[in-house]
Amino acid sequence: MSALELDTPVLHRPGTLAEVCALLAELDQPMVYGGGTAVQILLKQGVLFASDLVDIARVPGLDRIEETPEGLRVGAMVTLRRMETDPVVRRLAPLAAQVYARVANPRVRNTASVGGNLAHGDYRLDPPTALLTLDARVELTSAGGTRLVPVREFFTGFQETALAQGELVTAVRIPAQPSPAAAFAKLSSLSVNDWPCASAAALLVPTGRRRERWELRMGLGALAAKPEYLSLSVPVGAAVDEVLEAAQRAADQIIDPIPDVRGGVEFKRRLGLVAVRDAVRAAWDLAAQPTAGSTRGSVPGSTREEDSDVQRTSQRRWWRGR
Ligand SMILES: Cc1cc2nc3c(=O)[nH]c(=O)nc-3n(C[C@H](O)[C@H](O)[C@H](O)COP(=O)(O)OP(=O)(O)OC[C@H]3O[C@@H](n4cnc5c(N)ncnc54)[C@H](O)[C@@H]3O)c2cc1C
Repeated sequence: MSALELDTPVLHRPGTLAEVCALLAELDQPMVYGGGTAVQILLKQGVLFASDLVDIARVPGLDRIEETPEGLRVGAMVTLRRMETDPVVRRLAPLAAQVYARVANPRVRNTASVGGNLAHGDYRLDPPTALLTLDARVELTSAGGTRLVPVREFFTGFQETALAQGELVTAVRIPAQPSPAAAFAKLSSLSVNDWPCASAAALLVPTGRRRERWELRMGLGALAAKPEYLSLSVPVGAAVDEVLEAAQRAADQIIDPIPDVRGGVEFKRRLGLVAVRDAVRAAWDLAAQPTAGSTRGSVPGSTREEDSDVQRTSQRRWWRGR
């Protein structure tokens, strides 16, 4: 294939999902065209290796946000800006709305799509940090059918995802956020709208028979070859400084930065630990508020006397075990 052919892929605009799947199965080197914010740049840079672009903007239903018994089903062509502003997303998955609002600038967010963002597979993406903590699943469709892949298994390596040949992202299924105790921290070393140098999302989910512990879930962005996930169990009454220390120590095992124009390895590692600290501290502060139960459910019993004993015992055990 000549360089000229690489610069001018054929554009297809199918009107149904079945047509999209057929094109992806039949064409030589097809590439899905979502919002086009990344594809356009790759085209201009002359580094796009595709014989054909398959624009999915006309496929009905891909731009839909639905409330489900589990939480949300977000179509692949929903824009990042809608994730930021949609009242249903803000109610059921406020952490996701918060993180989508921090991607790039309004111009990019108005065009870029939820599916394209995931499929892009970049290690610096912000939205996966929230989707990892929320335990979202990616819906992948091909001529052979549909399968669901947990976001925690979707990113497989540097610029690599679980997308197989002939598949496209059709939706993301996001469980309702189990607790409002969540926060996101993004640190950029160039401009404030730039890609992150380090980002971290933190979510505290009440666990245990008497809700005497928190599962601290964390998603990390830009700090390794792919978005990373980790979780810790901490007692409800733990001291914040000890929790921050435990979170940073756990994150430090996973952080493996890629040096680039935004910073070297050590700079990014230190920034990553700051992002972890900021996100966990903000989530912990929210957890201390009496409403920190569930976006749909009840409140953990940190103020109830009978539960305080359980929490204190749990806390003592935690410190003994460390
Ligand atoms: C100036 C700038 C700053 C940015 N800053 C940030 C940032 O701070 N944080 C951040 O997270 N992101 C950032 N981005 C990345 C931006 O989020 C991505 O460009 C965008 O999410 C890609 O979405 P898209 O719909 O435009 O995808 P496209 O450009 O259409 O496609 C991107 C890739 O995904 C594939 N693809 C698209 N849709 C699908 C689908 N449904 N199924 C399968 N494959 C698909 C395409 O084939 C292509 O490989 C930035 C981008 C720009 C241009």
